[in-house]
Formats: sequence, C-alpha cells, structure tokens
Amino acid sequence: MEHTMLKRRSLIKAMAATGFGGTLVAALPGCTLPKVPMLSEGSSVKARKSGEPAHVVVIGGGFGGASVAKYIKRFDKSVNVTVIEPKQTYMTCPGSNWYLAGLVNADFITHDYSALRNKHGVSVIHSMVTKINAGAQQVTLKDGRVLDYDRLVVSPGIDFKYEEVPGYSADVIDQIPHAYQAGPQTELLYKQLREMPQGGTFVMCPPGNPFRCPPGPYERVSMVADFFKRENPTAKIVILDAKEKFSKQGLFQEGWAQLYGDMIEWIPASSGGKVKKIDAATKTVYTEFGEYKADVLNVIPPQKAGKIAFAAGLTNDKGWCPVNQQTFESKIHPNIHVIGDSSIAGKMPKSGHSAASQGKMCAAAIVSLLNGTTVPTAKNVNTCYSLVGADYGISVAAVYQLQDGNIVGVKGAGGVSPMGADAAFRLMEAKYADGWYKAIAMDLWHS
Ligand SMILES: Cc1cc2nc3c(=O)[nH]c(=O)nc-3n(C[C@H](O)[C@H](O)[C@H](O)COP(=O)(O)OP(=O)(O)OC[C@H]3O[C@@H](n4cnc5c(N)ncnc54)[C@H](O)[C@@H]3O)c2cc1C
Repeated sequence: MEHTMLKRRSLIKAMAATGFGGTLVAALPGCTLPKVPMLSEGSSVKARKSGEPAHVVVIGGGFGGASVAKYIKRFDKSVNVTVIEPKQTYMTCPGSNWYLAGLVNADFITHDYSALRNKHGVSVIHSMVTKINAGAQQVTLKDGRVLDYDRLVVSPGIDFKYEEVPGYSADVIDQIPHAYQAGPQTELLYKQLREMPQGGTFVMCPPGNPFRCPPGPYERVSMVADFFKRENPTAKIVILDAKEKFSKQGLFQEGWAQLYGDMIEWIPASSGGKVKKIDAATKTVYTEFGEYKADVLNVIPPQKAGKIAFAAGLTNDKGWCPVNQQTFESKIHPNIHVIGDSSIAGKMPKSGHSAASQGKMCAAAIVSLLNGTTVPTAKNVNTCYSLVGADYGISVAAVYQLQDGNIVGVKGAGGVSPMGADAAFRLMEAKYADGWYKAIAMDLWHS
C-alpha cells in the first residue's frame, strides 16, 4: 500500500515538474490516478528521488505546529515530519490566567514533545529557524543546519508592535511584562502580583483588534481579581483599553459586578482609555484624560505575525499572512503554509482552538497535495471558555465553513453563554473550561 502510494506520488511529481499539472492525469487513457489537485498560483512540486518520502518541516511546536505535525503523521505515516521549536517544554497561554490566580500550577499548563516523537514518529529539533529560502525550499537553523522541505508549515505565533505604545519596548518587559507569550513573562507577572502592596493598583493596557485571544485580557483581569479578593482585598484594577468594546463584554461585566463589586474599572478608548505613552521607570500610564500610576503594570501591545514570517516575506502590509483559506498555503510563497495566529484565517479568531483546527485542516491539505488527491473541505469549530471566577465560567463557540474561498461563520451555529444564568450554570461552564483544556492538551501533546 505504502509502496503504491510512493510510486504514485513520484509519478505525479514527475508530471508536475514537466509543467503538465493536473490536466494531463485526467487525459491519460485508462489512468486510475486521482486528479492532481489545483495548487496555488505559482506552486511547484520539488522533484525528489523516486521512492523518497516527502519531508514536511513545521516551524513552531505550539497549538498550530503540534497539531499539524501530529495529524500529518496520522493521515500518512510515510511523510517525514520535522518540528523546529526552541523550547524543550511549551507553556500554553490558555490556562496561564488560571495560573496567575493560583488555581492551577505551572506543570498543568506545561507540555513536552515526547508524545509527538515517540507515539507519532515526528522529529523534534530544539532550535530556531533563522531563514527560509522559499525558492530552494530550505530552512536554516540557528546552529547553521539546513533542512530541505517539500512543504513547510509556519506557525510561529505572534510578535509585538512595541513601537505603537510609546515608552514600552522589549527592553522593559522584565519590569513591565506583557505575559502574552506564556513562560518567563507569565512567571514574572505571577511574582509581581504576589509582591504588590496591600491596596495597590494593577493597571492593564489591552490592545486594539486584531490580537491573540480576544477574551484573554479580560479573563486575566478576572483571575487577578480572584487572587486579590483572597490575598489583597483592597487592591484596585484599572483597564485602560484601546477599544470601545470587547469580547463577551456583557458576561464579563456581569460576573465582575457579582464577584468583585467595584474592584475593576474598565475605561474604553473614548473615555480616556487610549494610552498615549507610558513611563516605564515609574510605571505611569498617560492617556488623553489623565495619568495612572500602577504598582503592577501589564501592557499588552498591538500584535503582528511571528518574526520569521516577516523575515520570509510572508506578511501583508498589516503584518499578517494571507493564505488560501482551504489549504493554508501562502498566497505569497508556494509550498509554504501558514497557520495559527500568524495567518489570516477569515472569520476565525486568533485562538489556540482555531490554531489546532487549522493544523488539522492544513495536515489534510498537505497530505492530499503530496498524494495527488482532492483537498477536502471541512467545517470546523472554535470554542473559547473564560473563567470569571474559580467556579464561574463563560464561553463563546462558533462553527466555520469555506465559502467562495473564505472561512466564514455558519449562521445559527454556536453562540455565547446566556446573561443572568445561575451559579450552577456558571459552575458547569467552569468545569467545561477545565475539560476543554485537558482535552486539547491531551490531543496535541499527550496522545
Ligand atoms: C492569556 C492568554 C489566554 C489564552 N487563552 C486561550 C484560550 O482559553 N483558548 C484558546 O483557544 N486560545 C487562547 N489563547 C490564544 C492561544 O494561546 C494562541 O492563539 C495560540 O497559542 C496560537 O497558536 P500558534 O501555533 O499560532 O502560536 P503559539 O502557540 O504561540 O506557538 C508558536 C511557537 O513557535 C515557536 N517559534 C516562533 N518562532 C520560531 C522560529 N523562528 N523557529 C522555531 N520556532 C519558532 C515559539 O517558540 C512557539 O512555541 C490565549 C492567549 C493568551 C495570551
């Protein structure tokens, strides 16, 4: 079976390399080969030696990268898959707000790559990709190694537009964490919250849209409030927002009033929330209407695609990567797929759940493209749970489908938690949040 597949793949590649593409296959008399799929414009298939397995390189072992690597192997074991990820262990952003509150420990949200290696036969190299040579279909690693690929998947997450918050920069994140890439930044914010003086002020500055995990800042505020309520009950929380509204706003505000009284003040952009500059030395935030001195300051800057996507020229003028929304193949460079937060995936939000779903769709597309079968279309889902309190969960879910080349929401599918629900309902959703986390972590890093 495997042998047949490889022979078929080599033949298709040979034909594609001669420039005949898919139409020739259909024209061969008595040919039982499946139709060669339509490749993106300018796409080519790199010739491999006959019988040689295909090699897919994946940049990043986060939600998108772990998902695509595992599912390529699930769909076609003969494909060699190599993940390049600098970290030995990966701390997830989902659950990191729960960690800030002390509801879970760091181990709960930290995973390694042993299942990808040992159960699925994925090679994991702990290094950084420093260069993508799209023409030669090669990546260069920090240590100088060069890897050839037939298909490359880029899932590097986000980078920050520090320059859009005057006074904030990568140089000051060791005093003023963004904690929007989990790991040392999360640990720092955890420590600062515990060292904050009694009755002190925690100030958060969330960015404008689009950004990673739209409810993320507001779940964080909720979890900080949960911690303060127990350990620092006279503390204050001020949110200086670059936006006029935010995800699940009514539900968050209902929960805040119920659980935390007037501890949390949310100031939208038009009421003085828009940050003009910060003074990192004094942790003071200046807005059009006033200044706010923080004891603990959490600035979440505006975002863009991960650095390597820029270096490889995969981004548009807004800083995100345009892709074919069925295959996730870049619209700029053929044979390179971009998934997760870096990609422009239609209506799907930038979330771990989306990135994992895109990883599965992209895996199916890559295996089809390598094997010359039709690329499937799939409906897929994003669910986002947030904890407002330890026993108080809320959620939003949506179903997506491909329509005229764009990922759009399916009308009438999904929905948000109801306003005014009772404590038992909120407790049930908090339990679902825990279950969602365990299930996705199990899928991507443990099974
Ligand atoms: C506070 C917070 C809470 C969140 N909560 C939720 C939630 O409840 N539910 C949810 O669905 N989503 C949530 N998210 C969003 C989720 O974390 C992201 O959407 C998700 O991680 C995106 O996956 P990704 O694969 O694109 O990037 P990531 O998961 O960030 O993975 C990118 C990986 O690429 C690696 N990398 C980067 N550059 C290179 C390179 N050059 N070479 C090699 N490796 C590289 C990085 O080390 C990193 O491990 C939350 C986010 C935050 C900040």
